[in-house]
Amino acid sequence: MVLCRACNNELREPFLSLGNSPLSNTFLSKEDLNKTEPYYPLEVYICEKCFLVQLEEFETPKNIFTDYLYFASYSDSWLQHCKKYTDMIIERFGINQNSFVFEIASNDGYLLQYFKQYGIPVLGVEPAANVAEAAKKIGIPTDVAFFDTSYAKKMEADGKLADLIIGNNVLAHNPNLNDFVEGLKIALKPDCIITMEFPHLLKLIEENQFDTIYHEHFSYFSFYTVQKLFEFHNLELFDVEEIPTHGGSLRIYAKHKEDDSNRITNRVKDLLAKEKSARLLDLKTYYNFKKKVESTKRKLLQFLIHAKNEGRKIVGYGAPAKGNTLLNYCGIRTDFLDYTIDRSPHKQNKYLPGTHIPIKHPDEIKEDKPDYVLILPWNIKDEIMEQMSFIREWGGKFVVPIPEVKVF
Ligand SMILES: [Zn+2]
Repeated sequence: MVLCRACNNELREPFLSLGNSPLSNTFLSKEDLNKTEPYYPLEVYICEKCFLVQLEEFETPKNIFTDYLYFASYSDSWLQHCKKYTDMIIERFGINQNSFVFEIASNDGYLLQYFKQYGIPVLGVEPAANVAEAAKKIGIPTDVAFFDTSYAKKMEADGKLADLIIGNNVLAHNPNLNDFVEGLKIALKPDCIITMEFPHLLKLIEENQFDTIYHEHFSYFSFYTVQKLFEFHNLELFDVEEIPTHGGSLRIYAKHKEDDSNRITNRVKDLLAKEKSARLLDLKTYYNFKKKVESTKRKLLQFLIHAKNEGRKIVGYGAPAKGNTLLNYCGIRTDFLDYTIDRSPHKQNKYLPGTHIPIKHPDEIKEDKPDYVLILPWNIKDEIMEQMSFIREWGGKFVVPIPEVKVF
């Protein structure tokens, strides 16, 4: 029996199955290729009470996130996004040298570095020791740990409560949602704020982003559901922004319920209305989504089969977690994609989980002159097409798989 991890309601059958899939960020070395890989069913549930969309927890976060190959600083557009956020939040809420900024899942210091430039005291908490090491190297104090209520209680005991708590792309990664949000409540100073960013379920559904479903993302949130979840812990969402990152995310602003220094903006009410009119609170929406996903798979395979029959050479760009859902679900291996390339040296010379597609250095493409480059991180396709525009010299074209296959 599967229970909703937000409201404990008993869940019915999954509304979508993406087959069996290995963990998306377990890249393989050459020696690993002959070993058994663990596969887990990628099945997606919806809660009829609070409308949380979730996967079952097959692997603990400890096994997933303590050795991780995702370094946030390798995307230029993401860094620009973080710099802009820093300047905005400092200005709007008067964050200064006397404030304490605390970030959960602070990765390689990609964000806190900008607060540090203003002399604002910061602390990050990051479970992956190898990634935290990179943050420490650039002078960002980082605890190697998971954030939970016991971590928050320690902050409280040490008198180190936060003026600003930031959590970007971490809410989905934590299967113990209620413990996590209760931790936020404990770690936050009175009259202070929390901001969190996470991919918006509305975009996932509307723009067919089924590949963002993978085992590391335990939950998928609408604003409606997050508001409920925070309410359970006496936290109130007083503002929200729709932002373009990761194919369309929300940035929520939370405060203690008893704090009335920040008024609730109209954007809260407007977004709830928007979600309702997009039928996010209607189970039929989710069952229709399944049909769309299956049709996308057939269209992508049709394109690849046609290109291969014409003798075209196809390679991939990027090795993001979502690429692995797409490739495993569609059964795309080296029979379609010769290899993929990635700018991160941590991924080069490894292999994608499940499909065993090799990951190479971007320069490989210049030698190889493929006809098509399939962009797996479609959310940054503009940045990639600009970086790689030299493929036009030999008539190379870009292909984007989501929301549906399209050639550029
Ligand atoms: Zn629920």
